[in-house]
Amino acid sequence: MSNIAAIQDQFKAPFYLVWEITLLCNASCVHCYSGAGRRHPDELDAEEALSVVDQLAEAGVLLLGLSGGEALLRPDWMDIASRASSKGMMVSIGTNGAVIDDEMCRRIIEAGVSGICVSIDGATAEVHEQVRGVKGLYDKAVSAIETLVKHGINVTVGYTPTRLNFRDGRKVVELAARLGANGVNLSEFIPTGRGDQALALTPNELRDVIVEWISMQQEYAGKLKIYWHDCRVALMLPPEQAAQYIGCGAGYVTARITVNGDVTPCVTLPLTAGNLREQSFQDIWSYSPVLANIRDRTTRNEGNCGTCEHKFICGGCRSAALAYHNDASMGDPYCWVVPEAVQV
Ligand code: SF4
Ligand code: SF4
Repeated sequence: MSNIAAIQDQFKAPFYLVWEITLLCNASCVHCYSGAGRRHPDELDAEEALSVVDQLAEAGVLLLGLSGGEALLRPDWMDIASRASSKGMMVSIGTNGAVIDDEMCRRIIEAGVSGICVSIDGATAEVHEQVRGVKGLYDKAVSAIETLVKHGINVTVGYTPTRLNFRDGRKVVELAARLGANGVNLSEFIPTGRGDQALALTPNELRDVIVEWISMQQEYAGKLKIYWHDCRVALMLPPEQAAQYIGCGAGYVTARITVNGDVTPCVTLPLTAGNLREQSFQDIWSYSPVLANIRDRTTRNEGNCGTCEHKFICGGCRSAALAYHNDASMGDPYCWVVPEAVQV
């Protein structure tokens, strides 16, 4: 069996798929990877969306994240979420919290949604709203978390460290705990969409953020789940915990569907593997050369990742490579383990 065939056999479906169901948004975040704001004219329509849900269920996707834009502004989000949950997928929704009230919580429960991720990008209104571009959004996000908790809905706080807010990480975790959230998730910033490279942390700053995050994971054990994602995860944990990680999961365990039905290997990796108006999800996932290439770490021959001894347990962030070098097979500019010759 060839390497690609073996991978196709092993990864019949992404474990976690993020779907941008609309680009309509009531915020204008500086780091938005979707460049969201207005509704996209070529959004998948209601019928197409339900067909996509059926295909994802058939393929075996376990976790479906509905994202945007502001996913809750799409009029038929409940139909999409209900169909997915009724087919056995765990559905989460990412939101900035602006439209969450008691009535919305009732709908979230009715649609069988497993969890809501509310973005908090600063421990104060000043920092949060500098990132999110809307006055008053901090109070709305805090109120959204309180309302979701009151209704017994599982809440994760989403935090993306950039130059504007990376010193707020610990305070965001403290806030999440105080509000009664179930978890906090750190997403790495990748300069794609509206996100400018000037917002990126240096490799050493990113390392310090991740090291603190891992230490908070232990501090808050049993009280608050602390999640994070970095391709270097297996290099940072004790061997007994590290064994389960394969580094960059793009095209292995993660994928994204864009608003017009493009399938990409990761939420921050804008390489189109196929479009769901032309091919089935299973066909794209199994046979796309784009996905095969991203999965194949022997194709990483350039930059720090090309010669790195950790290539097969880390792989380097392909989104970072594409964003910085305009070539996803190049090195990872944010790596502190084996820094690139040219620093960001
Ligand atoms: S150089 Fe690339 S493969 Fe090696 S540790 Fe850094 S990001 Fe990972
Ligand atoms: S491309 Fe980057 S963000 Fe996406 S799965 Fe790989 S390491 Fe993670």
